[in-house]
Amino acid sequence: MPDVKQVLVVEDELKIARLVRDYLHQAGFGVLEAATGPAAVSVARAEKPDMIVLDLGLPGMDGLDVIRELRQSSAVPIIILTARTEESDRIVGLELGADDYMVKPFSPRELVARMRAVLRRADATIGGGEVVRAGPVTIDIPKRRVTVDGAEVDLTATEFELLLTLARRPGRIYTRAQLLDAVHGVSFESYERSVDAHIKNLRRKIEPEPRRPSLVLTEYGVGYKFADA
Ligand code: CA
Repeated sequence: MPDVKQVLVVEDELKIARLVRDYLHQAGFGVLEAATGPAAVSVARAEKPDMIVLDLGLPGMDGLDVIRELRQSSAVPIIILTARTEESDRIVGLELGADDYMVKPFSPRELVARMRAVLRRADATIGGGEVVRAGPVTIDIPKRRVTVDGAEVDLTATEFELLLTLARRPGRIYTRAQLLDAVHGVSFESYERSVDAHIKNLRRKIEPEPRRPSLVLTEYGVGYKFADA
């Protein structure tokens, strides 16, 4: 029997919930549903879904609180659904541990593509290895050596940590605060915008065309990610 992934869809708008459910069924997912925050938490705990698609605007308990609650005991992949106006919620959601987000209105096809990417990342072994490969970039962690298409590039400690964090999980969006956390210990700067300056320098060293980055991508208003091949 093929491995059917169970997805918990948390959405209080019936029309959207139905649309997503039908589309996910067609795409071969099993679907569980919840329409409030507390229901989402209890279904997630009882059924242990493989993934959660979570609307942030929910009655009872908002989606951010649902993530907070779930992340105390679970690493289940979460994709949040937000309105265009909720940019700060998107950032908070990622910082609380959501894996990706979609802005409403969204196409169900795009949602399924994101879901598959997030599941692929969740299945892939994370960390552990001594060598990280992502696209043309190879990072030898013990030697702290980075090559792009075989050519060695010289990075500062901060640039190295930034690149390592991003390249370990291509496609995963990191906020500036998360990237600052990742380089903690090698950087004394505490302003999130300093991340932008380091990214700019990093791009100059690893991108074929630094002004049109194809490896370290900007997620507008949110942060950065490494290109998902
Ligand atoms: Ca809603």
